[in-house]
Amino acid sequence: MKIKSVSIGYVSIPLVTPFKTALRTVDSVQDLIVCVEAENGEIGFGEAPPTAVITGDTKESIEAAIRFYIAPAVCGMDLDDPEAIFAAMEKCIAKNTSAKAAVDIALYDLLAKLNRKPLFRLLGEQSGSSVRTELETDLTISVNEIDEMVRDSISAVNQGFRILKVKVGKGGEKDVARIREIRQAVGPDVLIRVDANQGWTREEAVRTITMMEDAGLQIELVEQPVSCHDFKGLKYVTDACETPILADESVFSVEDAERIIEEHAADYLNIKLMKTGGIHNALRICDLADQNGIRCMAGCMLESKVSVSAAAHLTGARSCITMADLDGPSLCSIDPYEGGPIFEGAKIILPDSLYGIGISKVPADFEVVASC
Ligand code: MG
Repeated sequence: MKIKSVSIGYVSIPLVTPFKTALRTVDSVQDLIVCVEAENGEIGFGEAPPTAVITGDTKESIEAAIRFYIAPAVCGMDLDDPEAIFAAMEKCIAKNTSAKAAVDIALYDLLAKLNRKPLFRLLGEQSGSSVRTELETDLTISVNEIDEMVRDSISAVNQGFRILKVKVGKGGEKDVARIREIRQAVGPDVLIRVDANQGWTREEAVRTITMMEDAGLQIELVEQPVSCHDFKGLKYVTDACETPILADESVFSVEDAERIIEEHAADYLNIKLMKTGGIHNALRICDLADQNGIRCMAGCMLESKVSVSAAAHLTGARSCITMADLDGPSLCSIDPYEGGPIFEGAKIILPDSLYGIGISKVPADFEVVASC
């Protein structure tokens, strides 16, 4: 069965409230959707968000990478030899992980559909891992003034979220105050994870995390305290603090994951399909995590349901992924798709009755960029 065509289109979905981190503010999801069609007419969908400040991938660069490099490279290839397709994608253009992820997700969706299985079943069988069909995601609390963050946290808990991922700012007393006030407002039973998004220096990180520890704020983990390139700083913080450290922007590739594990530069790894270039490389990071007993989080950018569903299927299929930060669809004000996993507050349910990712309709005008 060969790949017959590759098409692209766009979706635009307003967010419930603007999303703010130490790096950016965004008020809608504007994502590229890929559709890969097999010779028999079966189709697979993938998605990529432009997150220039994290991946370096813009709307224009994602589209150009797919249109001029990836789609021509994979079109006409044999779906019975997926390894050759993923190798061709890697080889045709360096980096461009979001563009690769969009096509990779569409291919996995298609492969699972051709096998008449939900994607989590296909991935679970390939790894021999036991599968889960029900996941629990955290909800992101944007960095704002303290009273607004407290209000957002209470509202999240009232919506049924038991895990909050709190974005913080520039370190020091104010970030400690943010977490202290939130902890006081939500009580002891809510799990709080903190994401600094590279906002701290290594000394600030140790000082701030130590203050949170001394204040008994019960932080589950701190994500990416220092700059993504500062592996030494990441290790410095990991060694100095009791609180587990989760690497996010420092781990894109399988090689990054290998280095972090070898140097023990962080305790946990955050796997995002837009960083790995899709499911194929994410599975290799899961293999490494399994071999080394490392816990992983499955995360997402500001993405809608196509690519977040792919990450949810991966999470359901791999037991090393013990934490889900898959709140993209919860942050969107509408769900414009048909089918797919159910995102219901904190709960994500993977339906066993739908093949592939499960999404059957995408409201985008598609343009064929490669056909054979
Ligand atoms: Mg993060």
